[in-house]
Amino acid sequence: MAHSHDHHAHGHGYDHDHGAPGRGRAFVLGIGLNLAFVAVEAIAGLASHSMALLADAGHNLGDVLGLGLAWGATVLAGVKPSTRRTFGFRRTTIVASVANSLVLLFVTGGLTWESIRRLLDPRPAGGVTMIAVALVGTVINTASALLFLGDGRRDLNRRSAFLHLASDAVLSAGVAMTGAVILVTHWYWLDPLVSIVLAFAILVGTWSLMARSMNLMLDAVPEGIDPAAVKAFLSALPGVVEVHDLHIWAMSTTETALTAHVVMPAASSGPTFLADVCRELRDMFGIEHATLQVDPAPAGCVSCT
Ligand SMILES: [Zn+2]
Ligand SMILES: [Zn+2]
Repeated sequence: MAHSHDHHAHGHGYDHDHGAPGRGRAFVLGIGLNLAFVAVEAIAGLASHSMALLADAGHNLGDVLGLGLAWGATVLAGVKPSTRRTFGFRRTTIVASVANSLVLLFVTGGLTWESIRRLLDPRPAGGVTMIAVALVGTVINTASALLFLGDGRRDLNRRSAFLHLASDAVLSAGVAMTGAVILVTHWYWLDPLVSIVLAFAILVGTWSLMARSMNLMLDAVPEGIDPAAVKAFLSALPGVVEVHDLHIWAMSTTETALTAHVVMPAASSGPTFLADVCRELRDMFGIEHATLQVDPAPAGCVSCT
């Protein structure tokens, strides 16, 4: 059995990953500022009876949870495993991402429910508070988006963070415009309608997060790794006649483990065989934690019969 103990983080980011992992201070600052704005937006939404503003606050809450998750993952990755918790605390990132998506499902459910009620029975909503707060959101999101545009625009994570923040700026501007239209026309049904559209947008974003976290919980093969290609690679190794009991799963949102039995007639592998295979699994597939069992012959495997 050979292990590859090279645990460097890979860049499998989240949709709501607004920051580059590994910069604790930037994370804490980003989370703090965003959380403060969510509170302001939620209070202003309640005060001005604006469902659209509450929905925008719900979306921003999702972003804060995403940031918190990414930050938590980097912190927990640094906690050393103990004799009893041999995997450390890395799996908590998976539990947290399920909790994150559940919170967002409740938020969108509540928003949609209340918005439908208001749509059937429109009440005066919006006003100057709604416009002002939504405009502040537009400015914050535009400024944050420009920060990500500034350096390293070829980086995929930074690019998706920029696109997300830019679309957030557009959403906030949309809420401000809704407020302006309501101020002029008194079309109060417009506010819950925009809220439902925003809730649907959050739901779409949450759905993929939910599906991914569920797959992580079920120990499914992580996205981006083709299990057939891994099996083909192992089967094609010199001396290997069969591969069985192949498992590939995520140990955390950034680390992948593999176990497999390779059937090899006795003495056909060199002394560096396992180390070489583990290195290649890491380099080719990003699997950092591989454990291989060499079966001398198909009949010699106890765990498979
Ligand atoms: Zn967002
Ligand atoms: Zn076996």
